[in-house]
Amino acid sequence: MKQNYFNIVLLGAPGSGKGTQALLLKEKYNLQHASTGDLYRKEIASGSPIGRRAKQIIDKGELCPDELTLDLLYQFCSSCKNTRGFLLDGVPRNLEQAKMMDGIKYPHTIPITLALYIEVDKNVVVERLSKRAVIEKRSDDTPEAIWLRIELYETQTKPLIEHFKTQNKLITVNGMQSVEDVFDEICKMIGFRLVCTD
Ligand code: ADP
Repeated sequence: MKQNYFNIVLLGAPGSGKGTQALLLKEKYNLQHASTGDLYRKEIASGSPIGRRAKQIIDKGELCPDELTLDLLYQFCSSCKNTRGFLLDGVPRNLEQAKMMDGIKYPHTIPITLALYIEVDKNVVVERLSKRAVIEKRSDDTPEAIWLRIELYETQTKPLIEHFKTQNKLITVNGMQSVEDVFDEICKMIGFRLVCTD
């Protein structure tokens, strides 16, 4: 993987709007959307052995094994040509995965330029996910799986905020505004960083 890729990690609770913002950012900055949730859903839809194994885990709201997740991600990123970088959505999901992406106890590196934290209150997350469950009918949007995903986010993923802050890579935006306003805020922050690092 090229070391000069502009790779942005999207951090935030399930339902914080990472996927929505990723689609907007992808167009504006010519980046590739790399969502590990989507990669797993593709494996499940194709009925592959990985998909069959992952479905049992995902439907309960649990996390898939770190190594399997990073292998899927690395394979996807390596297959994308002609991109400036990736919008990493749903990964890293814990400190272990962040270390693996740095090449620690993992044979590949997936360098991270920035981490964009979309901050949303917990009650808003629950409300959004319950609405999405009715519209999208995702099999992991049952009340039990939603609660477990939120809990895993709090315990496993949230510590990454400190991790990226320490590395001076963290950008925080208020996710409780309209989609357009969140996007505007993100673009301003990214623009500022781009100028600063040019
Ligand atoms: P959400 O909308 O809850 O953020 P995603 O669409 O990102 O969920 O992911 C759906 C499911 O796929 C997760 O609950 C988890 O089981 C699995 N998954 C996705 N990314 C990862 C990851 N980085 N590590 C482990 N499991 C993952």
